[in-house]
Amino acid sequence: MWRKDSKTADPATSRERLLQRLRQHDGATRVVEAMGRVPREAFVPAPLRHKAYEDVPLPIGHDQTISQPYIIVMMTAALDLKPTDKVLEVGTGSGYQAAILAELASRVVTVERVPALARSAQALLASLGYGARIDVRQADDALGCPQEAPFDAILVTAGSPKLPRTLLDQLAPGGRLVIPVGSRLEQNLLHVLRTDDTFSIRSLGPCRFVPLVGPEAWQAPAQGEKSWEEP
Ligand code: SAH
Repeated sequence: MWRKDSKTADPATSRERLLQRLRQHDGATRVVEAMGRVPREAFVPAPLRHKAYEDVPLPIGHDQTISQPYIIVMMTAALDLKPTDKVLEVGTGSGYQAAILAELASRVVTVERVPALARSAQALLASLGYGARIDVRQADDALGCPQEAPFDAILVTAGSPKLPRTLLDQLAPGGRLVIPVGSRLEQNLLHVLRTDDTFSIRSLGPCRFVPLVGPEAWQAPAQGEKSWEEP
């Protein structure tokens, strides 16, 4: 059931209002059209569904979040996807961003380190008809998915302390990487373009993501430690 409050009169209206606002972002038209085809409410936990079309990140369990729609538009537009592109997403989470990527590219490989999230995203994406175009994989020791490389575009939806060499190596010539790089609490969204063996980097602005965990990134919190807050 949709709960009525001052901000969300009904889902169709709040959804159209959100998409209308997002269309104003530079180069966002195709991305916002793609967003209009993916039901965000299916990807957020049931008690938060009335907030699915607010422009805010929402918790999805396991200390993780589904990103704010505005950030999703900005990151996806920066990838400049073509219908023939093969894309890697690092950080499947709910699977929402993967569905948007699949609307704009030919194939998406998405990797997730939390097994329960990988399983539920895979089941949900299959039930929405994305099974053939999106390959959800449990992350292993290597960052990304070297066995499926090269990729025309790579999107990392968790914050990294640095630009991981392993991911640069998984980019095809002409490939684009969008990744938040910075501290655990705040990052800069970086866009990297690979031309043969040269990488040009530009900043898309400040952002805030949950930490990327792994050998070339942050360590997972110790057992029993609940949050990522700095001491
Ligand atoms: N894109 C997601 C939101 C991702 S939140 C969505 O649309 O809902 C970031 C996700 O990255 C979390 O689920 C976290 O478990 C995952 N993650 C963190 N480090 C990772 C790594 N090294 N490999 C794969 N996934 C990782």
